[in-house]
Amino acid sequence: THNTERHEYDVVVIGAGGAGLRAAIEARQQGKRTAIVCKSLFGKAHTVMAEGGAAAAMGNVNPDDNWMVHFRDTMRGGKFLNNWRMAELHAKEAPDRVWELEAWGALFDRTKDGKISQRNFGGHEYPRLAHVGDRTGLEMIRTLQQRVVALQQEDHETHGDYEAYIKVFAECTVTRLLKDGDRISGAFGYWRESGNFVLFDAPAVVLATGGIGKSYVVTSNSWEYTGDGHALALLAGANLINMEFIQFHPTGMVWPPSVRGILVTESVRGDGGVLRNSEGRRFMFDYIPEVFKHQYATTEEEADRWYTDQANNRRPPELLPRDEVARAINAEVKAGRGSPQGGVFLDVSTRLPAEEIKRRLPSMHHQFKELADVDITAEPMQVGPTCHYIMGGVEVDADTGAAAVPGLFAAGEVSGGMHGSNRLGGNSLSDLLVFGRRAGAGAAAYVDELPDRPKVSAEQVESARQEALAPLGRSGENPYEVHHELQRTMNDLVGIIRKAEEVSEALQVVEKLKERVKMVGAGGSAVYNPGWHLAIDLRNMVLVSECVARAALMREESRGGHTRDDFPAMDPKWRRRLLVCSLGDGSAVKVAEKAQQQMRDDLITLFDRDELKKYLTDEEMAEFDGIAK
Ligand code: FAD
Repeated sequence: THNTERHEYDVVVIGAGGAGLRAAIEARQQGKRTAIVCKSLFGKAHTVMAEGGAAAAMGNVNPDDNWMVHFRDTMRGGKFLNNWRMAELHAKEAPDRVWELEAWGALFDRTKDGKISQRNFGGHEYPRLAHVGDRTGLEMIRTLQQRVVALQQEDHETHGDYEAYIKVFAECTVTRLLKDGDRISGAFGYWRESGNFVLFDAPAVVLATGGIGKSYVVTSNSWEYTGDGHALALLAGANLINMEFIQFHPTGMVWPPSVRGILVTESVRGDGGVLRNSEGRRFMFDYIPEVFKHQYATTEEEADRWYTDQANNRRPPELLPRDEVARAINAEVKAGRGSPQGGVFLDVSTRLPAEEIKRRLPSMHHQFKELADVDITAEPMQVGPTCHYIMGGVEVDADTGAAAVPGLFAAGEVSGGMHGSNRLGGNSLSDLLVFGRRAGAGAAAYVDELPDRPKVSAEQVESARQEALAPLGRSGENPYEVHHELQRTMNDLVGIIRKAEEVSEALQVVEKLKERVKMVGAGGSAVYNPGWHLAIDLRNMVLVSECVARAALMREESRGGHTRDDFPAMDPKWRRRLLVCSLGDGSAVKVAEKAQQQMRDDLITLFDRDELKKYLTDEEMAEFDGIAK
């Protein structure tokens, strides 16, 4: 029996990470009846796992910091491909969003004079990350959930019902967005536990579903991250941009298979851990790029001295930027010098006394002992790059989070543009707050201006039901096998280093997988059936993978999270071209080029001419010289 329960809301927010919660709070504060729907438990989202902090130019630690410096850092980090309006709003509004969290009860670490403390992070010119030890994401989610509860208590006083204006639907997966003509009319999904269906009748939907990591075999992402929001948007007629840009973290666990990709913190290398290949060589010395030659040690002796004397020695090459280290590890493995389980060795055991390791890296010690039965005080870890974050996502209006489809909004990792070709650490948590709030406000304003309420079509509900039910009981292919083939293909052929032949090969495989996905079957009933859930998720993963591969094939340059072996240089011509994915009439992904919007005069003149020269074409430089005069 598959009952479809029905709920009516003004705004449905899909996702309960930082972006979704902040959007829902805003919509509710603007008087809208709001639903928060999330695939797993309430409170379990990637946002909880974020450690570093939220980047906001409050200037608490260094008074020279301000939004303009943060804006410049963000544009540099994204190699100038960012949507500059988003980068501007983000830099200007992040401090207010952090103070607001504090007003809602977040307890950030303090400076000596009692201000919110800020820490240094890669790519940020000044100490800028507001943090709570190494569990900032947890505090952020805790605070936002507390705010939701506070609003529910207000509603209980006014309306006698805690859930009158904001309600959480946890362990509920959305599989389709519904439309009335061009406009959003609702969302359709199922309960994970019972398999029963749910219909949300709503004129506005905010997507806040996070990442796509599960399309890769090695990823730091957890099971929910199957690119659902990306695919839902595409299927509803919205566009995705920048899909070729994916951030690979250099060190994830590679063994055992069940924990492959789980993050191994950068602190291991910061505290003296070194990378070695199967021949015992500290190979990072072989991979110092020309531009960094003067900043990194060229001998092991100098590198080792750096840990105790940073003023007179250069940094060890293990601490090169993430993309450099990830590419080096990848190259060693490809050259046949990898570890038995297909990574390289990361060793602290011969570098620090056992007690020191346990004191400095307690969670890593615990993680390897528990998950891999490896004692990192006695033997090396095996690590390799892991798919971590997608810069690409739903193309949105910077100010309102609105997608191309009326009534559809997106914020957080599922949206694209803000981070350009590469995200700086710490800019994600602030992104969630700034654009979560804006998307919630955008959705509320949209609902206010609606001339009439869109209607849910019974036909669309029925077809969503049929689509979801199709794999159940069908004696088709095993969804786990199809998933694994997709993951391997993306990992091996559209991974850190890409070349035309390999990406084309991946596209052929994806094309076949698309057909096979239509035939997957899951045995058992609709009650708590993970095989069935995966069969449903596969549609999304295959679609998103096709977008990544098609865009990666088109972009003939290397920039940020997109490295082409056959086009190793960054090309200013390509900075002006954004790749936009959409679905044509059939199910084929189309990729079109779109001109990058010209940066506003007052923003571009924040940069030095010499710096701009690295990124802009001669034509653009001539224009800049006109403005700068
Ligand atoms: P998420 O927090 O990912 O939440 C997504 C939500 O959508 C979840 O509630 C999920 O259940 C729900 N959802 C998904 N699909 C559906 C569906 N079909 N139906 C219903 N609900 C759905 N960033 C930093 O800035 N600093 C860090 O230190 C940092 N560390 C990280 C460590 C790890 C291990 C990982 C994986 C990421 C880290 N990141 C870090 C990245 C950052 O945490 C994420 O990019 C960010 O939290 C994404 O937030 P979000 O609100 O967009 O989505």
